[in-house]
Amino acid sequence: MSENTTTLPVYLDGHATSPLAPEAEAAMAPWWHRRAANAHSPHRRGTEAAAAVEQARVEVANLVGAAPQEIVFTSGATESNNIAILGIADAADRAGDGRREVIISAIEHKSVLSAAKSLEERGFSVQVCPVGKDGRLDILAFERLLSDQTLLVSVMAANNEVGTVQPIGAVLPMVRALGAMIHVDAAQLAGKLATDVADYDSASISSHKMYGPMGVGALFISAAAQYRPRPLFHGGAQEAGLRPGTLPTPLIAGFGAAAKVAASRLEQDSVHVRALADRLVAGLEARQVRFRRNVPNEHQLPGSLSLGLFGVDAPSLIDALADTVCLSEGSACTSGQIQASHVLAAIGFSEVEMRETIRIYCGRYNDVSQIDYAATAIADAVYRMTLAHWTNPPVRSAHEGCSHRF
Ligand code: PMP
Repeated sequence: MSENTTTLPVYLDGHATSPLAPEAEAAMAPWWHRRAANAHSPHRRGTEAAAAVEQARVEVANLVGAAPQEIVFTSGATESNNIAILGIADAADRAGDGRREVIISAIEHKSVLSAAKSLEERGFSVQVCPVGKDGRLDILAFERLLSDQTLLVSVMAANNEVGTVQPIGAVLPMVRALGAMIHVDAAQLAGKLATDVADYDSASISSHKMYGPMGVGALFISAAAQYRPRPLFHGGAQEAGLRPGTLPTPLIAGFGAAAKVAASRLEQDSVHVRALADRLVAGLEARQVRFRRNVPNEHQLPGSLSLGLFGVDAPSLIDALADTVCLSEGSACTSGQIQASHVLAAIGFSEVEMRETIRIYCGRYNDVSQIDYAATAIADAVYRMTLAHWTNPPVRSAHEGCSHRF
């Protein structure tokens, strides 16, 4: 292992968050101190901050094929998903729209699942559409769920656990034919693959998934949407009253810079991260690690891997590598109890298979030497664990050092 040259730990958890791009860091710097101002202040500093915010709005809009006035800054995709789902339902309700059905996919992020489920308390019915073995929406099942009672459909663009890109192009004409609205959680796709939200009613974007700062994101709302979401918060006129609160100028400037960089190197990044993921897989194979790819790689985001390591307890492996290689697991642990991943469960994996699963995202700033280090470290740890298992079979206890999936 080239421990001397590789800075540890090697970070391969880019689905959870990505490291900050230097361009984003540089764009943020002046707005913390030297040029700090509230973008709504009437003086020169305020005007400069407002201009920086508007410039970032243009960059984010350009990245996803939207018009700048269709972009609302939020604290991230969690908030964007909540505003879209709850706000559209509220707007439709107030307009006297009788449709009371919402369809979501079974592998949505919790911020979509929980927001949609909360609508049940308000008399909406929420249908959960299954996915196939390939980790993608079951189109036939979706078609059966869709009806003239469907108000809103929410399907993610790409999944954060297995990296599957969802067939939105197939869903869209069906949704439109019935006059329903569509929200797309594009948190994992935007900045990684070409993204065009223009045909959706709304879409969520997260800065920290595309090498921008944490704590900021955007909600695209189409100018043509039948209902503009109603705000969830009250008390200010910012973002046309939809998302009141002082705009975080530094974060927004960093987000805009990250969006601009991403747009300029989508192809370059894709080629790079795909090659790294392929190299990691080849490296594990060469070291006789036995694993399955949980979903076919043709529909995965470049750089994304969901691997089931045969006979390996993934949480223990991740613990063993915690200081050297940052990986994420396929099952999450809450209060000492292992919880099945709703995504892996929806795809049809058994509890054992979920427990064998590790999630990896090779990102823009990873390099070949890091990948080689990771392949060796994972293979060594798997070997040590397998050996320990045979020489001293463990008594199963609740996994300590739990982590959560994001
Ligand atoms: N949706 C998806 C698909 C995500 O992966 C995430 C973050 N893991 C979110 C929403 C939430 O994004 P944020 O952290 O910006 O709130």
